[in-house]
Amino acid sequence: MSFEINYGEETQLKTDVPKRPVRPAIMKGLKGRCPNCGEGRMFGKWLKVEPACSNCGEELHHEQAQDFPPYIVISIVGHIVVTLLMIVEANWDLSMVTHLLMWIPLASVLTFALMQPVKGGVVGLQWAVRMFGFGGEEEA
Ligand SMILES: [Zn+2]
Repeated sequence: MSFEINYGEETQLKTDVPKRPVRPAIMKGLKGRCPNCGEGRMFGKWLKVEPACSNCGEELHHEQAQDFPPYIVISIVGHIVVTLLMIVEANWDLSMVTHLLMWIPLASVLTFALMQPVKGGVVGLQWAVRMFGFGGEEEA
């Protein structure tokens, strides 16, 4: 038994474009580099993605990372901080003030350290799978 699925003309066109390797694009993004060439800088100020790569000219303004990078960062930082907090709490009897002075700065530093790389990785992923106009089609 075989099934024939009609993907329609629009979907058929998308299969004609060459695939972009996902993992290298994410890795380049994690380093803050253009997902296409890996040389040009992805970010201007802090989390502001450059409109285009300064090295190869690849358009980067299509990115729509939005809430996904913070979601990932919260998950990572939460796992690290809560694990450490539970280990410390199980082994030492510290005051609440000491806990606050340890965990708030740690969570803040980790969050600021991870935000840009994680956003770069998300933009690299979006570029690789041709989301939001990265495939060359008009944006909706
Ligand atoms: Zn580039």
